[in-house]
Amino acid sequence: TYRLAKRLAQLEPSATAAMTGRVAQMRAAGINVISFSVGEPDFDTPAPIKAAGIAAINQNYTHYTPAGGIAELRKAVAQRASSDSGVTYGINQVTTTAGAKEALYLAFQALCDEGDEAIIPAPYWVSYIEQAKLAGATPITPMASDASGFKLTPEQLAASLSPRTRIVVLNSPSNPTGAVYSAAELRALADVLRDSDAIVISDEIYDAISYVEYARWLKVAPEMADRTLIVNGAAKAYAMTGWRVGYVAGPQPIITAIKDIQSHTSTHTASISQYAALAAYTPSAEIEATVAEMTTQFHKRRDLILGLLAEIPEITCNVPDGAFYVFPNVTGLLNRPLRGGRVCTSSDDLTNYLLDEAHIAAVSGESFGAPGYIRFSYATSEEQIVEGMRRFIAAVKG
Ligand code: PLP
Repeated sequence: TYRLAKRLAQLEPSATAAMTGRVAQMRAAGINVISFSVGEPDFDTPAPIKAAGIAAINQNYTHYTPAGGIAELRKAVAQRASSDSGVTYGINQVTTTAGAKEALYLAFQALCDEGDEAIIPAPYWVSYIEQAKLAGATPITPMASDASGFKLTPEQLAASLSPRTRIVVLNSPSNPTGAVYSAAELRALADVLRDSDAIVISDEIYDAISYVEYARWLKVAPEMADRTLIVNGAAKAYAMTGWRVGYVAGPQPIITAIKDIQSHTSTHTASISQYAALAAYTPSAEIEATVAEMTTQFHKRRDLILGLLAEIPEITCNVPDGAFYVFPNVTGLLNRPLRGGRVCTSSDDLTNYLLDEAHIAAVSGESFGAPGYIRFSYATSEEQIVEGMRRFIAAVKG
């Protein structure tokens, strides 16, 4: 056995990645698994973006770039962040990263010391917790239950704050719940933070996929600009998960710190990806129309999956306003006989049962700090949604 660094003892491997691995194994064994476990659009990257990537290769833009990305991309991203938020960001107030995931990792590294606290409302995207821990911070995880639409209330935020609070993570639209905060809800949270010096990380990676008017944190709380990092990326909006392009915008001293760490780690995301992302972030009616069409498709699929889930009387499901996940409460299916008399005692147990017996893959709420729920991604075809939900319904009939 090898001696690994102590920080590894606390690290939980990613449950979504584990599920992807199991699905791949079953499919390799010839089993027809329908997967609702993936966290990525099933659409292809829009053609003009792909063409920009190919052109970058042909023009030999395959060398190192400045840490944090080429100036043209940082300029385009600064303009996007500025027009989104209403706050003016210059080129030195943004850096581009290998996905929003790297942006978040670097933000935690740049801001947290041992003993600091990071408020991460549950249900949460798994990596926030592990990234906080890797930076030495303690995650504080108030539960935003379905009773409040999976949204953190101002009372919960106030109760979670302490003199040690360093970071507050806001993620709207949310993974795993699809919750989208309204302007009034964001305003109420901002009021609670008035006397705190915590930094808000606003993870807006799903902003393009909102079925209601999207309220932007800094539009609602512009006075928080000098204590906010905006994190976003190309993965979900432009169906570019594999290209690995994200960014972070915020106060220059924090961005400089992030770039300094970046200069000693990844240096920058792939040069080819940067040129593709430049096409994505350069305003284009054609690309925006493609993005809008993808969102229309996700909206239709959301309604489809919600309609099918409603055929299972034992479960309840909040109507998600964004992203491409539904997060039904499945406690009504636990501790009672399902098909063949099988009894499941937890959402984890039920998720494994659904994979083994119904050949549908989803991710249990345990991984998101919310036992009793299961996350289904509907970034898959209508046909697969219909067949997958048919299997679900049949498998849980007593
Ligand atoms: N933030 C949230 C809430 C996510 O769901 C994801 C990806 O699943 C990310 C960040 C990371 O995205 P990227 O692919 O840009 O690293």
